[in-house]
Amino acid sequence: DSAIRIRGLTKTYAGSKKAPPKEALKGIDLDIPRGTMFGLLGPNGAGKSTLINILAGVVKKTSGEVSIWGRDIDTRPRDARAALGVVPQEIVADVFFTPRESLEVQAGFYGVPADERRSDALLAALGLSDKANAYVRALSGGMKRRLMVAKALVHAPPVLILDEPTAGVDVELRRQLWEYVRRLNAEGVTILLTTHYLEEAQELCDTIAIVNRGQVVACEPTPQLLRRL
Ligand code: ADP
Ligand code: ADP
Repeated sequence: DSAIRIRGLTKTYAGSKKAPPKEALKGIDLDIPRGTMFGLLGPNGAGKSTLINILAGVVKKTSGEVSIWGRDIDTRPRDARAALGVVPQEIVADVFFTPRESLEVQAGFYGVPADERRSDALLAALGLSDKANAYVRALSGGMKRRLMVAKALVHAPPVLILDEPTAGVDVELRRQLWEYVRRLNAEGVTILLTTHYLEEAQELCDTIAIVNRGQVVACEPTPQLLRRL
């Protein structure tokens, strides 16, 4: 069974008086095997975020089938979402919380029982123990981003999605994030990441799908793909 299975996925954003409708995804077929580190590579506007937002359940698809960990997003949306952790592109700062509170609230959303919570372990793994009880608004951008990774993992999902994880991130933090994501993958978490940097996909991913204008134009093991570029 695939970690993520996508068949004939389309998305057309409704137009407005000013803008015509936009066909962002034009029939995507994709199988992401369990345990892989899979990269969606493509230029801005290719449709990567749309695809991820459909998986995350925040954008409605127009047509097609999607299942996550064998759970169809139409018939088992809750189970599908439970299998997924998503690190969004933008930093969403919880200004009134500390990192520990933020993780506890997130665990509550997912119904993680108190004795299975692992806030401290996640804070430690992401180098945030010292700031566990500081206000999130006082953290650096890099710390906020690491907190967002921790939040995506509170319910121990088998699949982690990262949308442009290192966009606008300095070299040091990029290395830290890469290293952590690699470790997660080595522990068995299936990773799907989007990027518009070939270097990032090449460095991290064992398989790369290239998306352009709403279509998958190539999908191959990384070494094979690089030989053709
Ligand atoms: P990427 O993440 O690869 O940069 P997106 O999925 O953000 O691509 O965008 C794909 C296309 O859909 C782009 O042409 C973009 O302008 C358009 N688009 C994205 N979101 C919306 C929206 N909410 N309404 C209308 N068009 C959108
Ligand atoms: P169902 O699919 O049965 O409606 P959901 O998975 O949507 O159940 O979860 C129930 C509620 O929890 C929804 O209102 C949803 O928006 C909210 N929820 C689920 N996951 C999160 C999350 N990560 N952050 C915030 N709210 C969430």
